[in-house]
Amino acid sequence: MLSDFSVASGGDTAALVAGLRAYFRSGVTQELNWRRRQLSQLRKMLSENESRFMQALGEDLNKAPQEAYLTEIAFLYSDIDHTLKYLKRWVRSRKVSSPLLAQPASSYIQPEPLGVVLIIGAWNYPLQLLLSPLVPAIAAGNCAVVKPSELAPRVSSLIAELLPRYLDRDAFACVEGAVAETTNLLQQRWDHIMYTGGGRVGRIVMTAAAKHLTPVTLELGGKSPCIVADDADIELAARRIAWGKFTNAGQTCIAPDYVLCTRHTADLLVPAIQQAVTDMFGDNPQQSADYGRIINSQHTLRLADLLGGGEVIYGGEVDAEKCYMAPTLMRAVNLEAPVMQEEIFGPLLPVIELDEFAAVEAFVNQREKPLALYLFTKSDALAERILSSCSSGNACVNDCMMFMLAQDLPFGGVGASGMGCYHGEHGFKTFSHFKAVMKRKNILDINVRYAPYSKRKFRL
Ligand code: NAD
Repeated sequence: MLSDFSVASGGDTAALVAGLRAYFRSGVTQELNWRRRQLSQLRKMLSENESRFMQALGEDLNKAPQEAYLTEIAFLYSDIDHTLKYLKRWVRSRKVSSPLLAQPASSYIQPEPLGVVLIIGAWNYPLQLLLSPLVPAIAAGNCAVVKPSELAPRVSSLIAELLPRYLDRDAFACVEGAVAETTNLLQQRWDHIMYTGGGRVGRIVMTAAAKHLTPVTLELGGKSPCIVADDADIELAARRIAWGKFTNAGQTCIAPDYVLCTRHTADLLVPAIQQAVTDMFGDNPQQSADYGRIINSQHTLRLADLLGGGEVIYGGEVDAEKCYMAPTLMRAVNLEAPVMQEEIFGPLLPVIELDEFAAVEAFVNQREKPLALYLFTKSDALAERILSSCSSGNACVNDCMMFMLAQDLPFGGVGASGMGCYHGEHGFKTFSHFKAVMKRKNILDINVRYAPYSKRKFRL
């Protein structure tokens, strides 16, 4: 049984993939009802084990149950429900016109599953980021192996335990493990690989995929700027930025990485963000049940090292043993310091002050294309200007991260922040091939295309 498979315990990865491929070739996954059943089972797995998932997320990341529910479990419910609602429409072939020379004929685009796909998840939303790509992979009719992040071990082992109990074991497997196991998986031939994580490993994934000409979707990260214009509603912006930055202790790929504004706006914004943080987590966030922890002490120490890159004006407390870092604000930031050279991925928010607001676009465009761009302003004209002059994977005006909730919006990076996208029908498309089909009739065979060519056939 594939469900008993474990690379760590000496399972044979090649045999696992061969078994999944044989099952895929049997055609079972082509059936719409089978796909719907698997999606419903995935939902059932979540609903029957909500408290266990919330507990595991609490143990791995100190996520408050409400936050775990909203950002991981409810997110997946909405994903699955949306997919179940529209799947019948998505799988339909779409008719297109046929040229005169090919008449009589009918032409259409037929979606077909890719085959056996590999999904590699990250640790920061260890449930959502692994299963949210699985939803469209199932919807499109694929078999799949999911590889949870080893850095969130409770969630990883819970998924490995439950997935085979709910899903078709011949079509899906969960392989736990770290670098050795992932390397082993990457040596196999897949029909698609979706990877979520940092760009360093993204390059490893893409190199391995290239050997088999396997297409990849890379959901990476980057430094997402948060631009606050002078005309912004400062209090509202502060609340929304504080939420976007300090939820999950800043370990969100689309969290605002740094704020970009004029000195005048910074003077107003910084105290407003401090107030918003106090409103959410009290005077001592370490005591708050709603404030998360850093994934491990190594990452906590990495974040502590970033504190040297500017003047800490709020927070800054670190308890590496307890994986705690306070919500932190920084001004007078050295742009050459690591804090502005690498993705922060933690609860540290540098506020970069520009002499003139007009310099924001140049600032953003001198850097790698970010996964998200945020802009707070009351001016539609300014929003249009910045949206058209700055490239980013996703963008949100007057809020942070909320675009994730719109199932019809594609989610993905551009340039260094990733390639490809998913969510809703975009995910279905990522895990499908759109086959071009033309069906001809046997009547009428215009002979102009056949040799011998003659002047009578072509007037050139
Ligand atoms: P991570 O360390 O959990 O690694 C991700 C996956 O890669 C894991 O499953 C891990 O086992 C595997 N891996 C690690 N080293 C490997 C190696 N040498 N060879 C093969 N596989 C390997 O995640 P991370 O990279 O620390 O995640 C943080 C990054 O992910 C941030 O940059 C963040 O912005 C990004 N991220 C992006 C998204 C998104 O949706 N775009 C979501 C979450 C995180």
